[in-house]
Amino acid sequence: MPELSDIYSEVILEHNRHPRNRGRVESPTHESHCDNPTCGDTIDLSLRVKDGRIEDVKFLGEGCAISQASASIMTQMIKGMSVEDAETLEAEFRRMLLEENYQPDAAMLGDLIALQGVKKLHARVKCAVCAWHALDAALSGAATVSTEEK
Ligand code: ZN
Repeated sequence: MPELSDIYSEVILEHNRHPRNRGRVESPTHESHCDNPTCGDTIDLSLRVKDGRIEDVKFLGEGCAISQASASIMTQMIKGMSVEDAETLEAEFRRMLLEENYQPDAAMLGDLIALQGVKKLHARVKCAVCAWHALDAALSGAATVSTEEK
């Protein structure tokens, strides 16, 4: 079994200590809440999308370092992106965590690559994807989502 210390890389710890984009955006066009009951993580995501571009995105949440760091890095990366590019990034992130022997596109993933080690601890994958479930749900107009549903 891998040690938890392998999983909690410096990048994850730093984002957990100093989360980026915490709060709720002004005049959100999309909002969603994700629960991860297996760990007790919650993410409340709000976005303001204009002309197909994510103008602003923020999150509030509680839970483990992995869940909060994943949300923090996600908001940092998708802010200013087109919705289409954010969805491409999400697909790559999910493949990194869910597909056996997948070689992720490190250039595209940026700091998200720090979460690659989570793959080794199966139960923690849900922590890492909670924010992304919230993103998916928000963009498709759903108010809530659970990691148990996907
Ligand atoms: Zn968690």
